[in-house]
Amino acid sequence: MPDLVHNLHAVLERIALAAQLAGRDPRSVALLAVSKTFPAEDVRAAHAAGQRMFGENYVQESLTKIDALADLRASLEWHFIGPLQSNKTRPVAENFDWVHSVDRLKIAQRLAEQRPAHLPPLNVCLQVNVSGEASKAGVTPVEAADAAHAIAALPQLRLRGLMSIPEPAETIEAQRAPHRQLRELFERLRADGLELDTLSIGMSGDLEAAVLEGATIVRVGTAIFGARDYSH
Ligand SMILES: *Cc1c(COP(=O)(O)O)cnc(C)c1O
Repeated sequence: MPDLVHNLHAVLERIALAAQLAGRDPRSVALLAVSKTFPAEDVRAAHAAGQRMFGENYVQESLTKIDALADLRASLEWHFIGPLQSNKTRPVAENFDWVHSVDRLKIAQRLAEQRPAHLPPLNVCLQVNVSGEASKAGVTPVEAADAAHAIAALPQLRLRGLMSIPEPAETIEAQRAPHRQLRELFERLRADGLELDTLSIGMSGDLEAAVLEGATIVRVGTAIFGARDYSH
């Protein structure tokens, strides 16, 4: 647990250094702490240390955690970042503040229909498969403009920007290339009239590359909470 607070500060320091290198205000990069597989108590400890945005991948696990942390609900944000099946959209529409992993129009339409009217619009990002791998979710860069315009027109959703999960790469240059492609797409969509402010890129291994390419949210799990154990 003390490790967690130490790790959190180390990650914030990495973000600040990368921002400085990029000539950016460190406050223009938000840290999303990815708490999947870790218990509610770890989220509570990170919250006590000042962290406010948390990311989850699995619907059932996240609902248990959101419930266990209901007393903190007004002072934290829940971001859904995992693959989303269309039969699981309702609890996500009802319980989250953001969804980063909207990878097709049908998912956005369901979230829009199911977002309760008494809640503010659900913030969403369109997931783009920049590298074009068949195994990865997301629209292709070619499909992105039509999908983004269609999603932006839906009620009860607010399209904030783009998200991607590129293949891991060793060198910072190799890490930057797909992030740069996503940023260029982001800029084209903005020039095209979409009011986007979010580029959700960068994880524990490549957050510096992402900040250098304009990330506004980095999604960091391992570097804060430690290695994940999927055995149970
Ligand atoms: C798990 C996950 C992360 C965090 O990855 P780390 O390498 O542990 O920092 C970020 N984004 C998504 C979409 C994830 O599923």
